[in-house]
Amino acid sequence: MAVALLDSVVDELTAICGPDHVFTGRSATFNRARVPAPFPVHKWDEHVPSAVVLPTSAHQVSEVVKMANRHRIPVVPRAGATGLTDGAVPLRHGIVVDVKLMNQILDLDHENRTVTVGPGINMLKLNEELRKHGYIYPDNPASYPCSLVGGRIGTSGWSLIGARYGHTRDLVISFEIVLPTGEIVRVGDGGGRTVRKSSSGYQLKHLFMGHQGTLGIVTEATLELVPRPEAEFSAFFAYGDYMDAWRATGDLARSGVATLAGVVLFDEWKLAYLRRDDEAYIPQPESIKGVIACASYGNADEVRIGAKRLLRIGNASGGVYLGDEISQGDWASRHDRYATPQHGRTRDGQVALMSWHCEDASIPYSELPAVREEWHAIAAKLRERFDMFDDWGMFAYTNGAFKPWGDYLTEIDIGIWETRWDEETWAAWVDAKRELARVSIEHGGSISACHGSCREGEVDLVPAELGGGFEVMKTIKRGLDPNNIMNPGKYLLDQAYEEA
Ligand SMILES: Cc1cc2nc3c(=O)[nH]c(=O)nc-3n(C[C@H](O)[C@H](O)[C@H](O)COP(=O)(O)OP(=O)(O)OC[C@H]3O[C@@H](n4cnc5c(N)ncnc54)[C@H](O)[C@@H]3O)c2cc1C
Repeated sequence: MAVALLDSVVDELTAICGPDHVFTGRSATFNRARVPAPFPVHKWDEHVPSAVVLPTSAHQVSEVVKMANRHRIPVVPRAGATGLTDGAVPLRHGIVVDVKLMNQILDLDHENRTVTVGPGINMLKLNEELRKHGYIYPDNPASYPCSLVGGRIGTSGWSLIGARYGHTRDLVISFEIVLPTGEIVRVGDGGGRTVRKSSSGYQLKHLFMGHQGTLGIVTEATLELVPRPEAEFSAFFAYGDYMDAWRATGDLARSGVATLAGVVLFDEWKLAYLRRDDEAYIPQPESIKGVIACASYGNADEVRIGAKRLLRIGNASGGVYLGDEISQGDWASRHDRYATPQHGRTRDGQVALMSWHCEDASIPYSELPAVREEWHAIAAKLRERFDMFDDWGMFAYTNGAFKPWGDYLTEIDIGIWETRWDEETWAAWVDAKRELARVSIEHGGSISACHGSCREGEVDLVPAELGGGFEVMKTIKRGLDPNNIMNPGKYLLDQAYEEA
């Protein structure tokens, strides 16, 4: 059950944030217990925060953290709550700091091409404003309308057009963060708020990128602006054989086309799922075993010439161009397809309230076919044992910024009928999750390309993936957060305190 805070602590929170911005009621706290990743709804109570605060300034965040530190109360930052690795789930109850009200555009610097914002703004709203000035902020996840800048930094997010413009780590220039002891510092590449390259001191921006709220709370960020693209091109190709599609994916990614924003390969399991999902735009026949999408953005002249090369490569690789309507329409729906995470189709095609696990490993290009086999085998075992699981297929997406040919963000989506969880099915799921992660590491990959690796099961293998780096993580955590108040229980970092 939720652990009640002392009245005096709630009074202190109210004095800091104001009476309208502190909540201890059932609905406010239960709704901030979960995220869209498969959640153990049968033991929801275990993760309910004791209080929720919605601060409006860095000063308020700092005062909340100082107070929590004095009383040794856990603090969990929460932004859009779309994170898929349980990062914003309060494992030890405590205070959730919801940053949604810190959603202002604070400064638009035309000369240096930057925008400074609060952590609670989402990319859709931000770009609505920026477009008027001829810019965009090109961090473009599928969760574009609902994830927020603070959470993008907390997870070190991945962008659908990252091959062209980079990912969150490339696009956030510097940010202000409240450390676990309450100090407010600014980190970037060197000291200047808008400096893109510096060799001064440690590159602290990267330390605080993807920390899942374990090292502090971001209260402001300065972001990169790029000219609003004049042109956008997308092309879809179909293949009768997965291996042909895999080879063509590599050819397109290595094409050297400077405007290339991404290449994605869907396998036949994914196509089967889309075929019975009436929201999908590409109901391809069963003879199609792989579909590739590629996209390019930039100045009209450059995009036009690059498009010719991409079409030539697609056709030469045996792909069948699926036409302008599918190519443009499906690409345009990239933010909508998963917009409601809790939806799905059962195996016989019925609409059902199913949640969606998406594995998001980084896998070297050469290993994609083997990983595909092993992951589908893991999903098949789950399906055989329990009818609450389904295999919704895989895709592989260019992962590297600017040099997209190396590793791929590789997803297997597993549909889960969440209301059917019990101890047995949850345990089987955690085992499967660990197995999926093991396969990624054995093939020279990383457990996560964008969501993080905090979920039960996979987190057990983080020390194996990082080796000595995990020891460094523990030292840093203990040094910055001596009382383990900042999002405790994540990334096995409690070990840092047990050992001490
Ligand atoms: C439909 C859908 C599609 C998705 N597509 C993508 C995609 O294409 N690319 C991608 O990268 N991800 C994707 N995701 C995952 C998710 O959107 C990202 O991980 C996103 O970056 C999380 O942002 P958020 O604002 O929702 O953060 P939250 O879920 O609220 O938080 C994420 C983590 O950051 C921490 N955090 C939150 N705010 C702060 C702060 N101010 N300071 C410090 N730490 C903080 C939290 O404690 C947590 O650990 C998708 C998710 C969904 C549901």
